[in-house]
Amino acid sequence: MENKIIPYGRQDITDEDVRVVIETLKSDFLTQGPKIKEFEEKFAKSVNSKYAVAVNNATAGLHIGVMALGLQEGDRVITTPITFAASANCARFVGAEVWFADIDRDTYLLSLEKTKELIESKPKGFFKGIIPVDFAGLPVDLEAFRKLADEHGLWILEDACHAPGGYFMDSKNQKQFCGNGVYADAAVFSFHPVKHIACGEGGMVTTNSDEVYKKLLLLRSHGITKDNMSENQGGWFYEMQTLGYNYRITDFQAALGISQLARNEKGVEKRNEIAQKYKKAFEGKITFQSLPDKFLNAHHLFVIEVEDRKGLYDYLHQNKIYAQIHYIPVHQLPYYREIGYNNDTDLSKAEDYYSKCISLPMYPTLTAEEQEFVIDKINLFYSNNL
Ligand SMILES: *Cc1c(COP(=O)(O)O)cnc(C)c1O
Repeated sequence: MENKIIPYGRQDITDEDVRVVIETLKSDFLTQGPKIKEFEEKFAKSVNSKYAVAVNNATAGLHIGVMALGLQEGDRVITTPITFAASANCARFVGAEVWFADIDRDTYLLSLEKTKELIESKPKGFFKGIIPVDFAGLPVDLEAFRKLADEHGLWILEDACHAPGGYFMDSKNQKQFCGNGVYADAAVFSFHPVKHIACGEGGMVTTNSDEVYKKLLLLRSHGITKDNMSENQGGWFYEMQTLGYNYRITDFQAALGISQLARNEKGVEKRNEIAQKYKKAFEGKITFQSLPDKFLNAHHLFVIEVEDRKGLYDYLHQNKIYAQIHYIPVHQLPYYREIGYNNDTDLSKAEDYYSKCISLPMYPTLTAEEQEFVIDKINLFYSNNL
């Protein structure tokens, strides 16, 4: 036990994963082959969305996501400060402004009330969209956000990078998977190795809108399409209809994604078992992310709050437990401080959360023995600090 590093998250690559990647490497296609289509179809099925568009990473997915929803220079969006910077940066890529609303102190998610307050403090049409984040794997109540968004004519782009397999039951008791496109206009997932499904790099954009889907396809691949080819044109015909990018994933990454996706449901179950153990150990002693009724947290992270956060972080690292902090509030990052944001909005809950948060090891291959070691060390830290 002594020398083994326990990270906060890690990928799991099986022999079968390796086999399918090698098989694809030896096939006719390294990119734009059949594995991408298969990955998209299987992913869409897994989250119950109509469409899925695979991309080279979630940051690219967020970029073409906001573009497909029509975001333009000078427009304004609202997001949470407690997220990875890319959730906000995607708006900056098109020259739009990022406004932050505070979090709910119990769920750590973008607060519906604070978002509503911010929207209603401005004239109609001031904001164009909301980018809520299923932070740590806990689904945002998108039914409630949809209602708010509809009242003000806003779109919703769900950053579901932490939450493939997460869901909530809506007011009609229907199971709503993160990224299913029912309440949000589109959603984005990441296949970075620390996330649930590892492709090396990779991402997916899901939507139920035909129009958004078509735009995503164009933007992913240079704005080029063969769709308008008529009978008298040669086979080489194509049109560039808009300024797009090369945000494609490779076929061998998609093969890895398919193999990983097949294990995700089990992985989410395992993550929830690990969460249960932490909760049992900490209940009544240590604050952790709350779980509303009828929500399933996909648990990319397991976050606890501790007064002497640096003390616990250092102590765990000394014991080779590489706990991590998620996240430094985005509005406090030097880039956002410099360009400015809605400085007069109260973001104190996000700042208070940040001063205490620490993410404990959470991944399906974390063994019971390793988790007990982590729990013991945390208990020891607390008893030494009383
Ligand atoms: C990981 C992550 C991203 C970016 O994903 P990449 O695939 O690394 O580009 C965006 N948003 C959130 C919330 C993330 O956790």
